[in-house]
Amino acid sequence: MGATTVEDLFGIDRLLTDDEKAIARTVADFGAKRLRPHVADWFEAGTLPARDLAVELGALGLFGMHLDGYGCAGTTATQYGLACLEAEAVDSGLRSFISVQGSLAMFAIHRWGSEEQKQRWLPDMAAGRALGCFGLTEPDFGSNPAGMRTRARRDGDDWVLSGTKMWITNAPVADVAVVWAQTDAAGGSRGIRGFVVPTDTAGFTASEIRHKMSLRASITGEIVLDDVRLPADAMLPEAEGMRGPLSCLNEARFGIVFGAVGAARDCVNTALDYAGTREVFDKPLSGFQLTQGKLADMAVELGKAYLLAIQLGRIKDGGAIAPEQVSLGKLNNVREAIAIARECRTILGANGITLEYPVIRHANNLESVLTYEGTSEMHQLMIAKALTGQDAFR
Ligand code: FAD
Repeated sequence: MGATTVEDLFGIDRLLTDDEKAIARTVADFGAKRLRPHVADWFEAGTLPARDLAVELGALGLFGMHLDGYGCAGTTATQYGLACLEAEAVDSGLRSFISVQGSLAMFAIHRWGSEEQKQRWLPDMAAGRALGCFGLTEPDFGSNPAGMRTRARRDGDDWVLSGTKMWITNAPVADVAVVWAQTDAAGGSRGIRGFVVPTDTAGFTASEIRHKMSLRASITGEIVLDDVRLPADAMLPEAEGMRGPLSCLNEARFGIVFGAVGAARDCVNTALDYAGTREVFDKPLSGFQLTQGKLADMAVELGKAYLLAIQLGRIKDGGAIAPEQVSLGKLNNVREAIAIARECRTILGANGITLEYPVIRHANNLESVLTYEGTSEMHQLMIAKALTGQDAFR
């Protein structure tokens, strides 16, 4: 690699505080020592040592790090974003592990839960002693979760949940699941509600989804709820309707805005290194104009994605961030990251298809990142709805 990085070109350093840089460095160091040496093997084996990693990531303060109290670190949104960036520079599966725990499961309880629910779960989850998952998607309802078929019916004081949740990260290893379900009017509740479900409750099963070609260093499952009986206080009291789950998705999407930059940066750095040493037609690949064109274009997009992430971080830290602003970042940064990963793959030639280098792993992972937390098409629709005032979802 040459002397100048993309961060240098864009003056990224000058946009970050010392605290922000320190957090990024801590996560990057942990990634280099503890994660990078193993991640290709985890990916190849289609597994993740979730329990061990949870305790270590908890000790680093990465779970629910932007939440206050209950053992959470209480950082700024930008600091959290930078931690996501460095985690995803190693692997999107690792960033997903952190996002699902902190931004989906913990955030749901922190934002919408009762004091008892918070006390019961958040300190253990922050420390990595307990793992959470977030069950919204169903086999027939992904982009349109409001159509969900999972039902919660009232039986005396209890709630009884039945249905299926699909593609749920961490479900097979989780201790607690935040499950979203339609409640019947007879239950004295309204529409979609969230439930805090200990995974050892009778009738709850989570089986692993195998044969994934993307996000392999991440455990994904299908949850079956077969008349899962829960006490009345299992419901998240404050979340009514889709604003409950959507608020959580907005948090996780924010982490992805930064995370995608990390994956793209790792690809660009790998391609720069490779092109500098690989000789073709008697000179380094990096000296050819076609390669330089690719590298320059990727540097431009990577730097722009960085700037967008930091700008959205500043907006979020300054107060409320609108969902369509997060959509801008998720749409652009994941779309550019996957384009960068594919372009870097070409620079590595045949070596680009092996797990000896991180590029094909990132490219494959980003296929999932493009789809989950709202597909690109959903984010286009959200942005355009904000611009035109017209809803084109159906
Ligand atoms: P569909 O909704 O069937 O969409 C298929 C295609 O149709 C997409 O291209 C979509 O953009 C397009 N489309 C849909 N509607 C429209 C429209 N109105 N206009 C134009 N195009 C449209 N979910 C959870 O709840 N919890 C998790 O932890 C979780 N983890 C995941 C982990 C992985 C690895 C993956 C792959 C998914 C995960 N998901 C999770 C599910 C994810 O959120 C959904 O896959 C996603 O929302 C898309 O839903 P779908 O797969 O059903 O696709």
